[in-house]
Amino acid sequence: MSKSDFTAVGRFLGKKQPLMARAEGIYLYDADGKRYIDGSGGSSSVTSIGHGVVEVPAAMAAQAQAFSYNPTHAFINQPFLDLADLIAGLAPGEMYQNCKVWFAVTGTDAVDDAVCLARQYWVEKGRATKYVIISRWQSYHGMSISSCGFSGLTARRTLFTPMFVNSPHIPPAYCYRCPFEKSLPQCDLLCARTLETTIRQLGPENVSAFIAEPVVGSALGAVPAPEGYFQLIRDICDRHDVLFIADEVMTGWGRTGRTFGIEHWGVTPDIIATAKGVTGGYTPLSAIIARNEVWQPLIDNDSPFRSGHTMNANSVSCAGGIATIQHIVERGLVENARTVGAYLLERLKELLDYSIVGDVRGLGMMVGFELVRDKATREPFPPAMHMSRRVYDAAFERGLVTYPLTGAVDGAAGDMVKLAPPLITTKVQVDEMLTILHQSLESIPVT
Ligand code: PLP
Repeated sequence: MSKSDFTAVGRFLGKKQPLMARAEGIYLYDADGKRYIDGSGGSSSVTSIGHGVVEVPAAMAAQAQAFSYNPTHAFINQPFLDLADLIAGLAPGEMYQNCKVWFAVTGTDAVDDAVCLARQYWVEKGRATKYVIISRWQSYHGMSISSCGFSGLTARRTLFTPMFVNSPHIPPAYCYRCPFEKSLPQCDLLCARTLETTIRQLGPENVSAFIAEPVVGSALGAVPAPEGYFQLIRDICDRHDVLFIADEVMTGWGRTGRTFGIEHWGVTPDIIATAKGVTGGYTPLSAIIARNEVWQPLIDNDSPFRSGHTMNANSVSCAGGIATIQHIVERGLVENARTVGAYLLERLKELLDYSIVGDVRGLGMMVGFELVRDKATREPFPPAMHMSRRVYDAAFERGLVTYPLTGAVDGAAGDMVKLAPPLITTKVQVDEMLTILHQSLESIPVT
């Protein structure tokens, strides 16, 4: 007899979740009419422009009426061309009007395609020994065998470990639990300098790229790298001919208060992988944005990019992407994420008054807090206590959707709660979220 209630396999197999009926602005409504704040911005950091923006489905419907799908080996479509141009005009730093854009479907695709492009770049340049991807522990890059292997989230990796390619991970930039047990500025950013040691040990002639999230999302609950980190990473990559891939699947499209998260460090990656906010959850779409210099060897050798997916550059999704980005730009949502995000982080710091909240962090509209059993020693709760899930349940009951996470300490232990509401969120709505968070933390058992 099956224990599952459904034929459909959901995220928690047969566990019953409320049926979502409709959504408007930052609010979600279940089939019984109960209202929830979309505090996680989807699962997670997806719903950039909020729900119910009629221009997006209208643009998608108009495109779908002309045609939805084109055979990609035979035709291109206009929304695909227009969206790439739009993105090139918003690309950061030296990528501005100096990049080309490739579209796929999920964030995982974008990461896979980014590492494939890095590899092909080196081969086309005649440097075929360069293939190794260096990534970080406590990171998340997706769930394909390739991207899960580059991720540093032990709980998600363990089952698939025998299937991964052998690739090194360096420690994360995570000051609350510094892997080197140092603190800023005396550490002199040892976490970044470790990249150089690792490249030297592997031999730069073998290293293709380094991949990192500007603000670590699912693995660390919104931890931005410290000032100077990515500047040093850029310098190390340049000195050793290693490409720098910024995984902006979560941090792109205004989430952190800049169009791309990496802009906070004032450096330009060679390749950006992005998804989620580009269509705000209205339709699946992801992209890689790479400097013209990265595409040039492929163009010179008349050698097409060797990745490819059936639904690449889907016309309806690209039309949705254009409407979403236009909405972000016209409504000043990047600016709103910056100002209201700063207010959200400030108010979240109130939670440090609770004995179980050890750290509060974030950037723009991507914030989180970490739960600890002992504040002085930063000892985590035992994973079996499911503390982040307890906070999630208490907040959900009160009408706030949060994103519960584990793994801050070692990829398995270490509870966190992440918030990433839509970029349209107002200060009054932040207050509403904080009221629920206070009530939730007061209500949960901590033993
Ligand atoms: N990269 C990062 C930084 C992510 O946060 C995620 C998903 O959360 C992914 C990649 C994978 O994206 P997707 O779940 O769309 O495959």
